[in-house]
Amino acid sequence: MSKRDYYEVLGVSRNSTPDEIKSAYRKLALKYHPDRNPDDKEAEDKFKEAAEAYEVLIDSDKRSRYDRYGHDGLRAGRDFHTYSGFEDIFSAFNDVFRGSSIFDDFFGNNSGFESFSSNRRKGSSGRGLAERGSDLRIQMPLTLEEIANGVEKQIKYKHWVTCKACNGTGANSSQGYRRCSACDGSGQIRQVSRTMFGQFVNISTCPTCNGSGQIITDPCKVCSGEGRVMAEDTEKISIPAGVEEGNYLPLRGKGNAGKRGGDAGDLLVFIQEKEHPEFERHNNDVIYRLLISFPDAVLGTDIEIPTLYGPEKIKIEPGSRPGQSIKLKGKGIPHLNSYSKGDQIVIINIYIPQSLSSKDKALIKELAESPNISPKKKTTRKEKDFFDKVKDIFSKE
Ligand SMILES: [Zn+2]
Ligand SMILES: [Zn+2]
Repeated sequence: MSKRDYYEVLGVSRNSTPDEIKSAYRKLALKYHPDRNPDDKEAEDKFKEAAEAYEVLIDSDKRSRYDRYGHDGLRAGRDFHTYSGFEDIFSAFNDVFRGSSIFDDFFGNNSGFESFSSNRRKGSSGRGLAERGSDLRIQMPLTLEEIANGVEKQIKYKHWVTCKACNGTGANSSQGYRRCSACDGSGQIRQVSRTMFGQFVNISTCPTCNGSGQIITDPCKVCSGEGRVMAEDTEKISIPAGVEEGNYLPLRGKGNAGKRGGDAGDLLVFIQEKEHPEFERHNNDVIYRLLISFPDAVLGTDIEIPTLYGPEKIKIEPGSRPGQSIKLKGKGIPHLNSYSKGDQIVIINIYIPQSLSSKDKALIKELAESPNISPKKKTTRKEKDFFDKVKDIFSKE
Protein backbone atom coordinates (compact mmCIF):
# COMPACT_ATOMS: atom_id res chain seq x y z
CA MET A 1 0.00 0.00 0.00
CA SER A 2 1.49 3.35 -0.95
CA LYS A 3 1.69 5.97 1.73
CA ARG A 4 -0.47 9.05 1.70
CA ASP A 5 1.14 12.45 1.57
CA TYR A 6 1.87 13.61 5.12
CA TYR A 7 0.46 17.09 4.51
CA GLU A 8 -2.69 15.53 3.20
CA VAL A 9 -2.87 13.21 6.22
CA LEU A 10 -2.81 16.13 8.63
CA GLY A 11 -4.85 18.35 6.33
CA VAL A 12 -2.34 21.20 6.38
CA SER A 13 -0.69 23.21 3.62
CA ARG A 14 2.90 22.65 2.53
CA ASN A 15 3.99 25.89 4.16
CA SER A 16 2.15 25.41 7.45
CA THR A 17 3.83 26.48 10.68
CA PRO A 18 4.77 24.01 13.45
CA ASP A 19 1.87 25.36 15.51
CA GLU A 20 -0.57 24.60 12.71
CA ILE A 21 0.90 21.10 12.38
CA LYS A 22 0.64 20.54 16.10
CA SER A 23 -2.95 21.66 16.29
CA ALA A 24 -3.96 19.60 13.24
CA TYR A 25 -2.34 16.52 14.73
CA ARG A 26 -3.95 17.11 18.09
CA LYS A 27 -7.40 17.14 16.52
CA LEU A 28 -6.80 13.91 14.61
CA ALA A 29 -5.17 12.18 17.55
CA LEU A 30 -8.09 12.93 19.80
CA LYS A 31 -10.53 11.82 17.17
CA TYR A 32 -8.82 8.51 16.40
CA HIS A 33 -7.32 7.70 19.78
CA PRO A 34 -7.78 3.95 20.42
CA ASP A 35 -9.17 4.59 23.88
CA ARG A 36 -12.09 6.35 22.24
CA ASN A 37 -12.39 3.83 19.39
CA PRO A 38 -11.90 0.40 20.93
CA ASP A 39 -11.54 -2.45 18.46
CA ASP A 40 -11.81 -0.10 15.51
CA LYS A 41 -9.07 -1.10 13.10
CA GLU A 42 -9.64 1.81 10.76
CA ALA A 43 -9.40 4.38 13.54
CA GLU A 44 -6.23 2.72 14.78
CA ASP A 45 -4.67 2.97 11.31
CA LYS A 46 -5.68 6.60 11.03
CA PHE A 47 -4.20 7.25 14.46
CA LYS A 48 -0.91 5.66 13.46
CA GLU A 49 -0.84 7.46 10.15
CA ALA A 50 -1.39 10.83 11.81
CA ALA A 51 1.30 10.13 14.40
CA GLU A 52 3.79 9.22 11.71
CA ALA A 53 3.00 12.30 9.65
CA TYR A 54 3.29 14.45 12.72
CA GLU A 55 6.65 13.07 13.71
CA VAL A 56 8.09 13.88 10.33
CA LEU A 57 6.56 17.30 9.78
CA ILE A 58 7.31 18.62 13.27
CA ASP A 59 11.02 17.85 12.85
CA SER A 60 12.54 20.50 10.57
CA ASP A 61 15.27 18.17 9.35
CA LYS A 62 12.94 15.29 8.49
CA ARG A 63 10.45 17.69 7.03
CA SER A 64 12.98 19.19 4.60
CA ARG A 65 14.09 15.72 3.51
CA TYR A 66 10.48 14.76 3.00
CA ASP A 67 9.81 17.95 1.03
CA ARG A 68 12.74 17.21 -1.28
CA TYR A 69 12.57 13.47 -1.72
CA GLY A 70 9.17 12.39 -0.46
CA HIS A 71 8.86 9.17 1.54
CA ASP A 72 12.07 7.83 -0.01
CA GLY A 73 14.06 10.66 1.54
CA LEU A 74 13.10 9.41 4.96
CA ARG A 75 13.78 5.78 4.27
CA ALA A 76 17.33 6.71 3.26
CA GLY A 77 17.91 8.66 6.46
CA ARG A 78 19.85 6.78 9.07
CA ASP A 79 18.05 8.29 12.02
CA PHE A 80 14.53 7.87 10.82
CA HIS A 81 12.50 6.15 13.38
CA THR A 82 10.10 3.57 12.01
CA TYR A 83 6.97 2.67 13.84
CA SER A 84 7.54 -0.81 15.07
CA GLY A 85 4.90 -0.86 17.73
CA PHE A 86 2.32 1.11 19.50
CA GLU A 87 4.66 2.37 22.20
CA ASP A 88 6.29 4.79 19.79
CA ILE A 89 3.05 6.33 18.79
CA PHE A 90 2.05 6.85 22.38
CA SER A 91 5.28 8.57 23.19
CA ALA A 92 4.79 10.95 20.27
CA PHE A 93 1.26 11.46 21.44
CA ASN A 94 2.39 12.23 24.96
CA ASP A 95 4.94 14.75 23.76
CA VAL A 96 2.18 16.85 22.31
CA PHE A 97 -0.28 16.41 25.11
CA ARG A 98 1.90 16.49 28.19
CA GLY A 99 0.66 19.18 30.53
CA SER A 100 -1.89 20.35 28.05
CA SER A 101 -5.26 21.41 29.34
CA ILE A 102 -7.03 19.73 26.44
CA PHE A 103 -5.55 16.47 27.55
CA ASP A 104 -6.82 16.93 31.10
CA ASP A 105 -10.26 18.05 29.99
CA PHE A 106 -10.66 15.29 27.55
CA PHE A 107 -9.36 12.29 29.35
CA GLY A 108 -9.81 13.42 32.91
CA ASN A 109 -7.24 12.85 35.56
CA ASN A 110 -8.64 9.51 36.63
CA SER A 111 -8.87 7.97 33.22
CA GLY A 112 -5.83 5.83 33.82
CA PHE A 113 -4.25 7.16 30.70
CA GLU A 114 -1.04 8.09 32.47
CA SER A 115 -0.39 4.64 33.80
CA PHE A 116 -1.50 3.15 30.54
CA SER A 117 1.02 5.04 28.47
CA SER A 118 3.84 4.70 30.94
CA ASN A 119 3.24 0.98 31.22
CA ARG A 120 3.25 0.78 27.50
CA ARG A 121 6.58 2.43 27.27
CA LYS A 122 8.10 0.10 29.81
CA GLY A 123 6.87 -2.85 27.81
CA SER A 124 9.41 -5.39 26.67
CA SER A 125 8.42 -8.06 24.25
CA GLY A 126 8.10 -11.66 25.38
CA ARG A 127 8.42 -11.38 29.10
CA GLY A 128 5.67 -9.02 30.13
CA LEU A 129 6.39 -5.58 31.49
CA ALA A 130 9.83 -4.70 32.75
CA GLU A 131 9.95 -2.82 35.99
CA ARG A 132 12.88 -0.75 37.22
CA GLY A 133 14.25 -1.79 40.60
CA SER A 134 13.76 0.56 43.52
CA ASP A 135 16.42 2.94 44.83
CA LEU A 136 18.02 2.18 48.15
CA ARG A 137 18.98 4.86 50.64
CA ILE A 138 21.63 4.42 53.23
CA GLN A 139 22.93 6.85 55.81
CA MET A 140 26.63 7.48 56.11
CA PRO A 141 27.53 9.12 59.44
CA LEU A 142 30.79 11.08 59.26
CA THR A 143 32.83 13.01 61.80
CA LEU A 144 33.84 16.60 61.06
CA GLU A 145 37.44 15.40 60.73
CA GLU A 146 36.41 12.94 58.02
CA ILE A 147 34.43 15.66 56.28
CA ALA A 148 37.37 18.07 56.48
CA ASN A 149 39.88 15.62 55.05
CA GLY A 150 37.72 13.48 52.76
CA VAL A 151 37.51 9.77 53.45
CA GLU A 152 37.25 6.36 51.86
CA LYS A 153 34.55 4.14 53.30
CA GLN A 154 33.59 0.58 52.73
CA ILE A 155 29.88 -0.08 53.01
CA LYS A 156 28.12 -3.38 53.39
CA TYR A 157 24.48 -3.52 52.40
CA LYS A 158 21.73 -5.90 51.46
CA HIS A 159 19.74 -5.59 48.27
CA TRP A 160 17.80 -7.57 45.71
CA VAL A 161 19.91 -8.95 42.89
CA THR A 162 18.83 -10.86 39.80
CA CYS A 163 18.66 -14.60 40.51
CA LYS A 164 21.50 -16.27 38.64
CA ALA A 165 19.85 -19.69 38.64
CA CYS A 166 16.89 -18.59 36.52
CA ASN A 167 18.39 -15.44 35.04
CA GLY A 168 15.60 -13.40 36.61
CA THR A 169 12.74 -15.23 34.94
CA GLY A 170 11.62 -16.94 38.15
CA ALA A 171 10.98 -20.20 36.30
CA ASN A 172 12.89 -23.43 36.65
CA SER A 173 13.08 -23.97 32.90
CA SER A 174 11.94 -22.34 29.70
CA GLN A 175 8.80 -24.50 29.85
CA GLY A 176 8.20 -23.41 33.44
CA TYR A 177 5.36 -21.02 32.68
CA ARG A 178 2.09 -20.66 30.91
CA ARG A 179 0.31 -17.63 29.50
CA CYS A 180 -1.82 -15.76 32.05
CA SER A 181 -5.44 -16.29 31.16
CA ALA A 182 -6.77 -13.34 33.15
CA CYS A 183 -5.04 -10.84 30.88
CA ASP A 184 -4.35 -13.09 27.94
CA GLY A 185 -0.64 -12.59 28.37
CA SER A 186 -0.67 -8.80 28.00
CA GLY A 187 -0.03 -8.13 31.68
CA GLN A 188 -2.80 -5.53 31.67
CA ILE A 189 -6.50 -5.45 32.37
CA ARG A 190 -8.62 -3.09 30.27
CA GLN A 191 -11.81 -1.72 31.70
CA VAL A 192 -14.14 0.21 29.46
CA SER A 193 -16.43 2.82 30.95
CA ARG A 194 -18.92 5.09 29.28
CA THR A 195 -19.36 8.74 30.17
CA MET A 196 -21.03 11.67 28.51
CA PHE A 197 -17.75 12.43 26.76
CA GLY A 198 -17.55 9.03 25.21
CA GLN A 199 -15.95 5.76 26.00
CA PHE A 200 -12.91 5.51 28.23
CA VAL A 201 -10.56 2.68 28.74
CA ASN A 202 -8.87 2.25 32.07
CA ILE A 203 -5.80 0.06 31.98
CA SER A 204 -4.33 -1.47 35.09
CA THR A 205 -1.69 -4.05 35.87
CA CYS A 206 -3.08 -7.58 35.88
CA PRO A 207 -3.33 -8.71 39.52
CA THR A 208 -3.16 -12.41 38.61
CA CYS A 209 0.29 -12.30 37.03
CA ASN A 210 1.46 -8.94 38.48
CA GLY A 211 1.94 -7.60 35.00
CA SER A 212 4.27 -10.29 33.73
CA GLY A 213 1.67 -11.85 31.40
CA GLN A 214 2.79 -15.27 32.53
CA ILE A 215 2.06 -17.64 35.36
CA ILE A 216 5.01 -19.60 36.61
CA THR A 217 4.10 -23.27 36.83
CA ASP A 218 7.53 -24.57 37.77
CA PRO A 219 9.19 -21.96 39.97
CA CYS A 220 12.93 -21.60 40.27
CA LYS A 221 14.18 -23.45 43.36
CA VAL A 222 16.64 -20.72 44.31
CA CYS A 223 14.38 -17.67 44.28
CA SER A 224 10.96 -19.39 44.58
CA GLY A 225 9.78 -17.67 41.43
CA GLU A 226 10.63 -14.13 42.51
CA GLY A 227 13.41 -13.80 39.92
CA ARG A 228 15.48 -11.94 42.49
CA VAL A 229 17.33 -12.91 45.63
CA MET A 230 18.58 -10.92 48.63
CA ALA A 231 22.32 -10.57 48.64
CA GLU A 232 24.89 -8.72 50.68
CA ASP A 233 27.38 -6.58 48.83
CA THR A 234 30.19 -4.25 49.69
CA GLU A 235 31.00 -1.04 47.92
CA LYS A 236 34.00 1.17 48.37
CA ILE A 237 33.12 4.82 48.16
CA SER A 238 35.36 7.81 48.37
CA ILE A 239 33.80 10.86 49.91
CA PRO A 240 35.29 14.19 48.89
CA ALA A 241 36.21 16.81 51.49
CA GLY A 242 33.56 19.43 52.19
CA VAL A 243 30.34 17.43 52.02
CA GLU A 244 27.51 18.31 54.35
CA GLU A 245 24.42 16.79 55.92
CA GLY A 246 21.86 15.92 53.26
CA ASN A 247 24.35 15.60 50.39
CA TYR A 248 24.18 12.23 48.73
CA LEU A 249 26.21 10.17 46.35
CA PRO A 250 24.20 8.18 43.83
CA LEU A 251 25.71 4.84 42.87
CA ARG A 252 23.98 4.07 39.59
CA GLY A 253 22.55 0.59 39.23
CA LYS A 254 23.64 -0.51 42.71
CA GLY A 255 20.14 -0.50 44.21
CA ASN A 256 17.55 -3.24 43.89
CA ALA A 257 17.45 -5.38 40.76
CA GLY A 258 14.55 -4.69 38.41
CA LYS A 259 11.77 -7.13 37.65
CA ARG A 260 11.45 -8.97 34.35
CA GLY A 261 14.58 -7.46 32.84
CA GLY A 262 14.09 -3.92 34.15
CA ASP A 263 17.10 -1.81 35.10
CA ALA A 264 18.39 -1.89 38.65
CA GLY A 265 17.68 1.10 40.89
CA ASP A 266 20.38 3.27 42.43
CA LEU A 267 22.06 3.15 45.80
CA LEU A 268 21.87 6.61 47.36
CA VAL A 269 24.42 7.24 50.08
CA PHE A 270 23.24 10.12 52.27
CA ILE A 271 25.78 12.04 54.31
CA GLN A 272 24.99 12.46 57.95
CA GLU A 273 27.09 14.76 60.10
CA LYS A 274 27.97 13.39 63.53
CA GLU A 275 27.87 15.89 66.33
CA HIS A 276 31.37 16.92 67.31
CA PRO A 277 32.27 17.12 71.02
CA GLU A 278 34.22 20.37 70.51
CA PHE A 279 33.43 21.97 67.19
CA GLU A 280 30.31 23.45 65.76
CA ARG A 281 30.02 23.78 62.00
CA HIS A 282 28.75 27.00 60.45
CA ASN A 283 28.80 26.48 56.70
CA ASN A 284 32.50 25.93 56.11
CA ASP A 285 33.74 27.60 59.28
CA VAL A 286 34.06 25.78 62.57
CA ILE A 287 33.46 27.45 65.89
CA TYR A 288 35.54 26.46 68.87
CA ARG A 289 34.75 27.84 72.32
CA LEU A 290 37.81 28.34 74.47
CA LEU A 291 37.52 28.84 78.21
CA ILE A 292 40.58 30.52 79.76
CA SER A 293 41.42 31.54 83.30
CA PHE A 294 41.16 35.12 84.54
CA PRO A 295 44.96 35.42 85.00
CA ASP A 296 45.59 34.09 81.45
CA ALA A 297 43.12 36.61 80.06
CA VAL A 298 44.77 39.43 81.96
CA LEU A 299 48.42 38.48 81.45
CA GLY A 300 48.21 36.71 78.08
CA THR A 301 49.59 33.25 77.32
CA ASP A 302 50.26 30.67 74.62
CA ILE A 303 47.77 27.86 74.63
CA GLU A 304 47.33 24.64 72.64
CA ILE A 305 43.92 24.02 71.13
CA PRO A 306 42.50 21.28 68.88
CA THR A 307 41.78 21.89 65.18
CA LEU A 308 40.34 19.54 62.59
CA TYR A 309 43.90 19.05 61.38
CA GLY A 310 45.61 18.37 64.74
CA PRO A 311 46.58 20.50 67.75
CA GLU A 312 47.79 24.05 67.24
CA LYS A 313 49.30 26.71 69.50
CA ILE A 314 47.59 30.10 69.61
CA LYS A 315 48.52 33.31 71.36
CA ILE A 316 46.16 34.87 73.90
CA GLU A 317 46.93 38.58 74.06
CA PRO A 318 47.21 40.29 77.47
CA GLY A 319 43.90 41.97 78.29
CA SER A 320 41.77 39.52 76.29
CA ARG A 321 38.07 39.74 77.02
CA PRO A 322 35.17 37.29 76.90
CA GLY A 323 33.50 37.10 73.50
CA GLN A 324 36.63 38.14 71.69
CA SER A 325 37.44 35.86 68.76
CA ILE A 326 40.58 34.65 67.07
CA LYS A 327 40.44 33.48 63.48
CA LEU A 328 42.60 30.58 62.31
CA LYS A 329 42.57 31.05 58.57
CA GLY A 330 42.07 27.96 56.46
CA LYS A 331 41.53 25.67 59.45
CA GLY A 332 37.86 25.17 58.66
CA ILE A 333 36.23 22.82 56.17
CA PRO A 334 37.22 22.80 52.48
CA HIS A 335 34.62 23.99 50.01
CA LEU A 336 33.28 21.13 47.96
CA ASN A 337 34.69 21.40 44.44
CA SER A 338 37.13 24.20 45.21
CA TYR A 339 40.50 24.56 46.80
CA SER A 340 39.52 27.21 49.33
CA LYS A 341 38.75 26.39 52.94
CA GLY A 342 36.72 27.89 55.75
CA ASP A 343 38.27 29.14 58.99
CA GLN A 344 38.30 28.04 62.58
CA ILE A 345 36.87 30.74 64.81
CA VAL A 346 38.01 30.57 68.42
CA ILE A 347 35.66 32.39 70.76
CA ILE A 348 37.16 33.23 74.13
CA ASN A 349 35.28 33.00 77.38
CA ILE A 350 36.65 33.49 80.87
CA TYR A 351 36.34 30.92 83.55
CA ILE A 352 34.91 32.15 86.84
CA PRO A 353 35.74 29.67 89.61
CA GLN A 354 32.85 28.56 91.79
CA SER A 355 34.72 27.19 94.78
CA LEU A 356 37.80 28.71 96.31
CA SER A 357 40.01 27.95 99.29
CA SER A 358 40.32 30.56 102.06
CA LYS A 359 43.83 31.30 100.83
CA ASP A 360 42.49 31.97 97.29
CA LYS A 361 39.85 34.25 98.74
CA ALA A 362 42.39 36.21 100.74
CA LEU A 363 44.54 36.72 97.62
CA ILE A 364 41.62 37.88 95.54
CA LYS A 365 40.46 40.26 98.26
CA GLU A 366 43.89 41.75 98.37
CA LEU A 367 43.86 42.07 94.60
CA ALA A 368 40.44 43.70 94.68
CA GLU A 369 41.83 46.60 96.67
CA SER A 370 43.98 47.64 93.72
CA PRO A 371 42.41 50.64 91.87
CA ASN A 372 43.07 48.86 88.53
CA ILE A 373 40.92 45.81 89.21
CA SER A 374 37.36 47.21 89.37
CA PRO A 375 35.46 48.85 86.52
CA LYS A 376 35.07 52.62 86.58
CA LYS A 377 31.78 54.05 87.92
CA LYS A 378 30.67 55.13 84.47
CA THR A 379 30.68 52.73 81.51
CA THR A 380 32.90 54.17 78.81
CA ARG A 381 31.80 54.36 75.20
CA LYS A 382 34.36 51.68 74.29
CA GLU A 383 33.05 49.31 76.95
CA LYS A 384 29.47 49.86 75.89
CA ASP A 385 30.32 48.92 72.29
CA PHE A 386 32.02 45.84 73.58
CA PHE A 387 28.99 44.74 75.63
CA ASP A 388 26.80 45.07 72.56
CA LYS A 389 29.16 42.87 70.60
CA VAL A 390 29.27 40.19 73.31
CA LYS A 391 25.48 40.28 73.56
CA ASP A 392 25.32 39.62 69.82
CA ILE A 393 27.66 36.67 69.96
CA PHE A 394 26.01 34.94 72.88
CA SER A 395 22.44 35.57 71.86
CA LYS A 396 23.13 33.37 68.84
CA GLU A 397 23.60 30.28 70.95
ZN1 LIG B 1 15.56 -17.91 40.33
ZN1 LIG C 1 -2.18 -11.58 33.79
